[in-house]
Order: sequence, then C-alpha cells, then structure tokens
Amino acid sequence: MERVGVIGGGLMGSGIIEVSARAGLDVIGIEISDEAAQAASQRVEGSLRRAESRGKIETTEVEAVLERIRFESDLEALADRDLVIEAASEDETIKLDLFRRVGEILTSDEAILASNTSSIPIVKLGAVSGRADRVMGVHFFNPAPVMALVELIPSLTTSPETLDRMRGWVGDSLGKQPIDATDRAGFVVNSLLVPYLLSAIRMYEAGYASATDIDQGMVLGCGHPMGPLALSDLIGLDTIKAIGESMYAEFKEPLYSPPPLLGRMVDAGLMGKKSGHGFYPYEGR
Ligand code: NAD
Repeated sequence: MERVGVIGGGLMGSGIIEVSARAGLDVIGIEISDEAAQAASQRVEGSLRRAESRGKIETTEVEAVLERIRFESDLEALADRDLVIEAASEDETIKLDLFRRVGEILTSDEAILASNTSSIPIVKLGAVSGRADRVMGVHFFNPAPVMALVELIPSLTTSPETLDRMRGWVGDSLGKQPIDATDRAGFVVNSLLVPYLLSAIRMYEAGYASATDIDQGMVLGCGHPMGPLALSDLIGLDTIKAIGESMYAEFKEPLYSPPPLLGRMVDAGLMGKKSGHGFYPYEGR
C-alpha cells in the first residue's frame, strides 16, 4: 500500500502523514479547508525541521519527504489511494460522514479504510462505508513519529486479510510495533490510561494537591516520563473528554465519566498544549 491518504492534519494526522512519507510512501493529507490544510502542512514541516535541527534527519531527506506529501481540502483527491487513515476530530458524526463519503470515493476494491479513533466503534464506521470487510482501526500514539506502538483493531466485520495487510504495512513499511486489540471503546492502552488521567483531574478538581505536585508525584514516585496532567495537556483535553464519554457510554463505568472541570476547561477553549493553555500555560502562546 504505497498511495496513502490521511484525513485530518491535527496532532495525530500530521504525525501519521510524516511517518508515512518518511517511510517512502506517497501521501495526500486532507483537511477541512484550505487554511486548515496550510496549517497542517506547516505542522508537518515544523516537525521535520525540528528533527533536522536535532540531527535526526538529513536536510536532503527533509526535502524528499516534503515532496512526497500533498495537502488537499477535497475528499475526492483520495480516489486513487490504496489506504486511507482517518484522523479527524474524535466526533462520531464527523467520522460516520467521512466513512460514508470516502467509502464511495475510493476506486480500488482492495483499498483499506482505517480510523485512528481512540474510542468510536469501528464496526459502526465499517457499516456506513459500503466496504465493512476492508475497514478497521489503526491507533497510533502521540507523537506518531516517535512512538513505536500501533494498536490494530479489526471489528466483527473486518476480514482476516485486511488485518494481515495492515499488520504488514505497520510493521514492514513503517517499522512500528503492532499489537492487536478488540473493538471495545478505549482498546488496550486507553482503557488503562484514560481512567488514570481522569482520576488525576478529579484529584486536582477536589483540591488534593496542586497540578505540579500531582505530576511530580507520578514522575518521581513511579518513574513515569511525565505526570498525568502534563500528559493530558499533551493529548488534548477535548480528545480526552471525548474518549471518556465514549468509554462511559459503552461500559457505564463511573471512572470513565469526565469530571465537570474537564468539561468547563474544554468549553473555555483550554485544550492543553495545542491551544496554548491547559493545566499549564505553554510558551509563545
Ligand atoms: P486534533 O484536534 O489535533 O486534529 C483533528 C483535525 O481534524 C483538525 O485539524 C480538524 O480540522 C480536522 N478535521 C475535523 N473534521 C474534518 C473533516 N471532516 N475532514 C478533514 N479534517 C477534519 O485531534 P487529534 O489529537 O489529532 O485526534 C485525531 C484523532 O486521533 C481522534 O480520533 C483522536 O481520538 C485520535 N487520537 C488522538 C491521540 C492524541 O494523543 N491526541 C492519540 C491517538 C489517537
């Protein structure tokens, strides 16, 4: 699968675009408007330039990678793709609409349509796509160019062949490490991670300790590379709220229910690092 499309060029989409182009693949990134496509293009280039300044990639290679990427705002541009990975906002209505439309646009019967969703049922995305056997979840981690893990999520209707092809693509083309998960909201990693992050937010909301003390506690006491509130800011508070809501809707487990403070912060536009402010302020914003 050498012609790849990525829908959404935010935090995750831009990373998946970069990873795919660095693997030598031809990539089209789709955003909601020309302005958003421009911003996504800058996000990818910024990440590559940072890698270049750290000596992780040669200047000539950066140019070559950028040449393999094209940004568009029209889904029709995806018609000739072998693989499309949807990484748009964590919103079921948006994703269902995209799967319905892209399922019709793809011309190849072999083409696979995958979602980077963290919690929306894959089976629902397959059902509206008209190609349910070639739809599955492929869940990258943030930042995608750095993190080795990819969760592979076949739904009840995904064919074994689709899963095998995606496993080969993730392992052989991208050089990442896949693990298999079932089509349950949260899959493996978020089922464990999200209740932990929501518990930290509840703890902060209840005034147990300051944000820095909660984070220091987990960094110095448990050897985590960053604390839960800093990690929440990195993931995006809107994304965590949406994942918690989907997990709560599926399991009715109170630990998955987003606390009121998280909702208020999202309503206020405090989305974390990507908006310049979350539990912490971020430089330059
Ligand atoms: P984000 O808010 O950074 O980016 C989402 C992007 O999708 C935005 O740029 C938006 O303009 C675009 N978009 C929205 N509707 C669109 C449409 N109809 N067509 C094209 N583009 C559209 O969000 P993100 O963190 O990149 O998350 C994207 C997906 O990845 C979500 O499903 C999320 O659950 C999942 N995910 C997120 C993380 C994380 O750590 N943030 C990790 C793994 C998976």
